[in-house]
Amino acid sequence: MSTAVTLDKIVKRFGSFTAVQPLNLEIEEGSFLTLLGPSGCGKTTTLRMIAGLLDPTEGDILVKGQRVNTVPIHKRNLGIVFQSYALFPHKTIFENVAFGLKYRNVSKAEVAEKVQAAMELVQLPHMGDRYPSQLSGGQQQRIALARAIVIEPDVLLLDEPLSALDANLREDMRVELKNIQEKLGVTTVFVTHDQGEALAMSDNIVVMRDGRIEQVGSPWEVYNRPASEFVAQFLGASNLMDVSASGAGADKVSVELPQFGKFEVDTTQVPQGSASEKGKLVLRAEKLQLSDKKTKVPAGQVAATGTVEAVDYLGQSVRYFVNVGAQKLQAINTVGQALFNQGDEVQVHFDPQNCTLLGD
Ligand code: ADP
Ligand code: MG
Repeated sequence: MSTAVTLDKIVKRFGSFTAVQPLNLEIEEGSFLTLLGPSGCGKTTTLRMIAGLLDPTEGDILVKGQRVNTVPIHKRNLGIVFQSYALFPHKTIFENVAFGLKYRNVSKAEVAEKVQAAMELVQLPHMGDRYPSQLSGGQQQRIALARAIVIEPDVLLLDEPLSALDANLREDMRVELKNIQEKLGVTTVFVTHDQGEALAMSDNIVVMRDGRIEQVGSPWEVYNRPASEFVAQFLGASNLMDVSASGAGADKVSVELPQFGKFEVDTTQVPQGSASEKGKLVLRAEKLQLSDKKTKVPAGQVAATGTVEAVDYLGQSVRYFVNVGAQKLQAINTVGQALFNQGDEVQVHFDPQNCTLLGD
């Protein structure tokens, strides 16, 4: 495996404001990497530095091992797509897609061939003679993608390319974009604030906050093994419970939680450097299960008694707010299991393997 892009302690300051803190990242050749985080956390700034649209205040950017800080944008072999499609309105679709090839010493016949191939890849092979205004938003965004990939870029940079599309189209385009990326095998850096998008499309996710990296990991890791409270909350509903913890051998940590009692978690469930005597147990709301008091709790799970305080019907699932002693917990259970009402006494249970233990 080789590294396509390296960010080596890059910093971006705008006046006295630091938008990107010293940030290190290696992006593996051929992978789909997503920068995920709330608005203003520095995703676009980071992407624009990779693109060469912004100079880093400090640090180095390497593409395939070569420092590119001073290489102008048109000499970096990058494909870029923004949220707004930014097609040239007075050029035809063919001319728009061909634009990147203009300065590349490509014969006319070859241009025609490459443009056709790119338009076929985005499934709009017959639109060459039209103008952007004659295309729908989704079609324009595909053309913007065709324009970016026609040059066979070393890296494809995508800044919230789907967020201007309506919800259904956005989901279709997710799948399509991911398929195109896999077909081309092009290293891709994708920016989004949408957790679902990041989880569905990425090989690796970089969760950012205030210009810093909170966690880098696979979608499974950032979702199931969040390394911080921020990541746990940003990627869906989580319960955060105060616990006391103590080492119980090399691979296990013993945890005590009020009402639920004592149980063990594996050290793989404790983010590095996080172990301490007081900690927070993170449990996704979907991993907390409610059942009536007669039901036998599955082996290996820990249980407590709780009272349903509120019920939100969500369609495919139900969100319960339950009081367990002094703790207020959230459970999202799929419909099809028993439904409970406000005031019901229930068993609340979970598998300790589904927890992450954060230090205080
Ligand atoms: P994101 O893409 O994650 O929403 P940005 O990278 O666009 O965030 O912005 C990060 C921070 O840097 C924000 O606080 C933003 O206001 C600030 N910022 C971005 N560009 C500039 C600029 N040209 N001048 C001053 N501040 C900027
Ligand atoms: Mg942005």
